[in-house]
Order: sequence, then structure tokens, then C-alpha cells
Amino acid sequence: MSTIILDSDKKFTVSKIVCIGRNYTTHISEMSAQRTKEPVLFLKPPSALLCAGNPIILPAYSSDVHYEVELALLVSQRASSINRNEWRSFIGGIGVAIDLTLRDLQQHAKEKGLPWSISKGFDGSCPISSFVTLQENTDLHKLVLKLEVNGKTRQHASTGEMIFKVDELISYISRIFTLEQGDLILTGTPEGVGPLLNGDRIKAEIENVVSVEFQVKSQTI
Ligand code: MG
Repeated sequence: MSTIILDSDKKFTVSKIVCIGRNYTTHISEMSAQRTKEPVLFLKPPSALLCAGNPIILPAYSSDVHYEVELALLVSQRASSINRNEWRSFIGGIGVAIDLTLRDLQQHAKEKGLPWSISKGFDGSCPISSFVTLQENTDLHKLVLKLEVNGKTRQHASTGEMIFKVDELISYISRIFTLEQGDLILTGTPEGVGPLLNGDRIKAEIENVVSVEFQVKSQTI
């Protein structure tokens, strides 16, 4: 599955998901990580996408799968080296995504200086909502991200807390990766990340914009 639905009728094919790490001070603190001078980039493949109606499957090879709620941006046209003041022409919609992370494998990779591909890019590691068209007057730094597990709020923060703002992220990313129509950009997570267990029910939302729920299941081998 590599299709994004925009406003319940338009379909976009996703060729890559560009993700930002360490973009909220509160999350950097809870991870005991270091703030960086440039945005931290990593990728998820299209096979990571998981749409509503499908369960989140906890891979058998990890025992610590974490949720991270994030604002997701949908790229509307192919572009590279986008100027900071022209970013709006290239973003067609917004949605909410969960950047699922195999924290045990990621920690091991960090210690060994190895890539995060498995811990961040495994099948189904990017549950997403449907997307809504970005309106001209929408301020992407005045949105409220919220994540609940079994009805309890675990993450709740304003996108205004982002260290690198959307214009800077899009300009930076597009100087490195040509953005294709249908690509997604995940903009980082605030504090409150934590583990998911078999049987959990998780809800991610941008308040008053869009929300999505998933059932969580262990992988059966
Ligand atoms: Mg993340």
C-alpha cells in the first residue's frame, strides 16, 4: 500500500517518506539526545505506510516498539532546491502520522554507529491518517498534535515548538532529495513517546483537523 488519500477523493502515490528527527526540545530531552545544527534526516520506504482499517503489527524481532505522533506534509509537485519563502507552492495537504520506532534496535544501532533503516523503516512503520488540503490561511505552527493510547493522552503539544520550522525543513530537504509528487515529510515528534503493547488502541490527531485510530497486534509467526 503506497497511496495517500487527499480530501477523500484524490489519490497520490508515495515514492518516499522523509522524516525529521530531534525537532522538539522536549523529545530531545526525554531521549537524552543532543540538539543538532542541521535537521536530522532519515527515510522510510513506501512499504512503511499503513492506512486506517489495518492493524499496527508489532514485529517479532523487537520488544520495544514506540509511537511518535507527527505532523505530516504531502508534496504536491516535483521540486528540488525550494526557496524558504516558496514552500507553500509545493505542499498540497496535511495529515497526522505515527513514526513507529523499534527503540531497542535503534538504540543498538546508535551505539554501534549503524543506520536506523530497520528500526524506522520496517513494514507498517508509518501509520497515517487521510490528508486534507492545506488552506492558504493555515498556520502550520499553530496546530495541536495529540496521541492517545487506550483513551489516555500520551503526547499533546503545539507544532509551534518545532526547532526547525516547516519553511526551513522543506528548503533543506529539497536541496538533498528531489521531492516527488506524493512524497511525505514527517516533521518530528514532541515529548511523551512510549511503548505499544498487543491489544492497545492508539489514536493520533491534529486537533480540529484530522484523526485516525489503529488497533495494535503482536506479529504471529
Ligand atoms: Mg519521529
